[in-house]
Amino acid sequence: MDGAARAGTLRTAHGEVRTPVFMPVGTKATVKTLHPDEVRALGAQIVLGNTYHLHFRPGDELVRDLGGLHRFMGWDGPILTDSGGFQVFSLRDTIAAVDDDGVTFRNVYDGAETRFTPELAARIQENLASDIAMCLDQVPPAGVPRRTLEEAVRRTTLWASRQRDAPRAPGQLRFGIGQGGTDPELRRRSTEEIAELGFDGNAIGGLAIGEDREVTFELTDAVAAMLPADRPRYFMGIGDAEGILEVIEAGVDMFDCVLPTRTARTGSALTATGRLNLRNARFARDERPLEEGCDCPACARFSRAYIRHLVNQNELLGPRLLSLHNLRFLIRLTDGARDAIERGAFAGYKRDRLERLQWADS
Ligand SMILES: [Zn+2]
Repeated sequence: MDGAARAGTLRTAHGEVRTPVFMPVGTKATVKTLHPDEVRALGAQIVLGNTYHLHFRPGDELVRDLGGLHRFMGWDGPILTDSGGFQVFSLRDTIAAVDDDGVTFRNVYDGAETRFTPELAARIQENLASDIAMCLDQVPPAGVPRRTLEEAVRRTTLWASRQRDAPRAPGQLRFGIGQGGTDPELRRRSTEEIAELGFDGNAIGGLAIGEDREVTFELTDAVAAMLPADRPRYFMGIGDAEGILEVIEAGVDMFDCVLPTRTARTGSALTATGRLNLRNARFARDERPLEEGCDCPACARFSRAYIRHLVNQNELLGPRLLSLHNLRFLIRLTDGARDAIERGAFAGYKRDRLERLQWADS
């Protein structure tokens, strides 16, 4: 512990995870464009897969029949699977009905009417045989009326209590998710109710979805302090450098985001001083690596000028090199935070990193 920030170890059926940890997202059983050995070599300890997408394509029963998600995707380290709640509820115009039993929606693959329940979310993740399964939650968009928020909190607890008792894969851990939007009272209620159910870990859901960042970080401080200290705390969906440092300071152990790989596909690099848009003409003759001092496979051998050329010509190696760099950047940032926590120097580490970060597109 260093203030509220903490360094720890999470034990899973496929090995230990040293926290705090950034988790690369492999929605469709692939961290986009990268070989699992490359993901491992970047220092990634655990990757995410997605219940919603894998249920429809290729199908969780098919994955089960082929030996589970680890074997299917060729990754033998820990895997966390999201429940699909976020995907269902973020595609709002596909939802047909939500009731206490579950949610009915038209899936994005063939438009067929589909029903998700907590029991099905458990069964899909049992079939995938991930190391950490998440509860199905109701995620309301930012800015909904309090009554809607309150209903989502009630339902999220009800669903969590049912999923807690559903079958799971051998050795699979199960995490609950708290909701409550930006309402401090509903956040407290949801957090307490989920914590009371005694999951292996607890997630903070439904934040960083467009609300004011000051509010995000204040609520994270308050919620993390309410969660059991002896279980991992997971902030769902944050992956910019400032956000990572803020949630670590609040006492969060795990976080994930598509930002590093999505940003790579738009031709941008994350660096300690901000974002580089490689399409910019000023990089045309720039012989420097994306970031001085970076030990990633892109920076070891290639210039900004070359990567700019790849990006501008839509060559596949461009987003691959940027993905390798961007993931390495966030993993190094998080490793540095862990080292600082162990030395009792996290406050200084965070201040130095934020001072260097201009965070403007350049
Ligand atoms: Zn690099």
